[in-house]
Amino acid sequence: MLLKLSPSELATLTTALKRAGDKEIGGQLFGEQVEPSHFRVSTMTLQARPGTFSRFLVDILQAVRDATRFFDRTHHQYRRYNYIGEWHSHPSFEVRPSGVDVQSMRDLVRDPDFKGSFAVLMIVRLRADKFEAGAWLFDPRGFEQNVKLELDA
Ligand SMILES: [Zn+2]
Repeated sequence: MLLKLSPSELATLTTALKRAGDKEIGGQLFGEQVEPSHFRVSTMTLQARPGTFSRFLVDILQAVRDATRFFDRTHHQYRRYNYIGEWHSHPSFEVRPSGVDVQSMRDLVRDPDFKGSFAVLMIVRLRADKFEAGAWLFDPRGFEQNVKLELDA
């Protein structure tokens, strides 16, 4: 799978990472399907409540509110514009999911209420002001794969 990130969303994210310092922050990824297995992330939400130095917890109420706003704005064209996944930062660790991160994503996609066919987890950090990111795909059947990230031109 290929994910393209919009430069403006990336700039906003970089600012948020600088401001958050050593606290983990995160949110959701929404975007557009360009081709099968090729998505453009157009919206990265930022959860108001940060995490700690080593843990980020999703605020479900804000997640639902942010999702509703995205679906309203894209006129509920779910086939084209949809939820892509989650992101959070690892200011003090490598941009790889922790054991807890992997388990949370497996729980998310296997939940009977989960409506999508997959969810991506993107982990980001600033190291000496340089942006680093990694992303992984999870699906309800247990399929897991590294996701390629590119900057959208
Ligand atoms: Zn994590």
